[in-house]
Amino acid sequence: MMDIMKRIYMDHSATTPVDPLVVDAMLPYFSERFGNSSSLHSFGQEADEALSLARAQVADSIGAQAEEVIFTSGGTESDNIAIQGVISRDSGKKQHIITSVIEHPAVLSTCDFMKGIGHDITYVPVSSEGIVNVDDIEKAIRDDTVLISVMHANNEIGTIQPIEEIAKIAKDNDVYLHTDAVQSVGKIPVDVNKLGVDMLSISSHKLHGPKGVGALYVREGTLLKPVTFGGGHESGLRPGTENIPGIVGFAKASSIAKERLAIDSSQMGRLRDSIIKKVFDTIDDVRLNGHATKRLPNNANLSFRYVEGESMLMLLDIAGIAISTGSACSSRSRHASHVLDSIGLDPDYVHGSIRISLGRDNTMEEVDYLAGTLRETVSKLRQISSPAKC
Ligand code: PLP
Repeated sequence: MMDIMKRIYMDHSATTPVDPLVVDAMLPYFSERFGNSSSLHSFGQEADEALSLARAQVADSIGAQAEEVIFTSGGTESDNIAIQGVISRDSGKKQHIITSVIEHPAVLSTCDFMKGIGHDITYVPVSSEGIVNVDDIEKAIRDDTVLISVMHANNEIGTIQPIEEIAKIAKDNDVYLHTDAVQSVGKIPVDVNKLGVDMLSISSHKLHGPKGVGALYVREGTLLKPVTFGGGHESGLRPGTENIPGIVGFAKASSIAKERLAIDSSQMGRLRDSIIKKVFDTIDDVRLNGHATKRLPNNANLSFRYVEGESMLMLLDIAGIAISTGSACSSRSRHASHVLDSIGLDPDYVHGSIRISLGRDNTMEEVDYLAGTLRETVSKLRQISSPAKC
């Protein structure tokens, strides 16, 4: 039996602990090399050099050129700049965007806002396994379509979308393609040229870097307008004094993630498969949400019939294990997850959904403890409850 004083973190899709090597890289940039990268004196030059190096490191981690990386405050801002920036090129003209129904709110809410100010949005559906159909995207293209925004990997069910195929369609139709790769970087290979995307969003805190920093990759020649205004930082696309310690940490985390990718993803995949097997071997009436193979190696989104995800989360938390519910019904919003809704999950299962997202430091011992605790938890909850209502 695991020492329950030790807490086990299996919610890495929410955020990750900052790698100690990343903290070490950041520290000098708070009080020692604290210059503003726009200043001309030696303090400024030091910061500017760090910024250039960081840009090259982040670019290298996704196969881009340094000049194509714009530092932002994270995934949300990167998604906003990509979508609003394309639309702003032709202000006053009604334009059309294609996206998917399972995007993160950073994309969906931005598209909803665009709709509110008069643009048209097509939300393509996904299959019961959570994958978009490339033909649906092709059929949705119109003369006024300017952008396709489809996420690389889904944050709830981990499905990986056919971005390379979508890129061919986008190119043939002269439409920009943006992908939100916030969940995929550090888990599966991400190369902007292999994917064929024009824009790609990354967030540092999902890959063992600090929070509040990220990047938007913008392919050379892509026409975008800024959505906030100020000095000419970040090629004029993201004005504001750069967060040098955060950017240095993000760059270090990106380099480490690239170096460790093969080992980390196979280790997480082994643990993830073991969780799924143990759960299916010991618990009845359970489903794995998302695609069997086209999924992130660290994601297991499971639904247990007649159990509430929120109750599971709480009992697991008491047992020292942090996971998240698959259905937002149990947390801040009373609505079921739009992703689980979109894959048409049976209502008996929807509210008993949990997301287990592994990280590079999880172990098989932790997985065994999780599987045993899950079995006990589901059995206990099923004894005390009739079909779950949420
Ligand atoms: N996109 C996806 C797919 C995410 O999972 C998240 C965060 O959970 C974001 C965007 C937002 O990123 P950030 O927290 O850096 O703003």
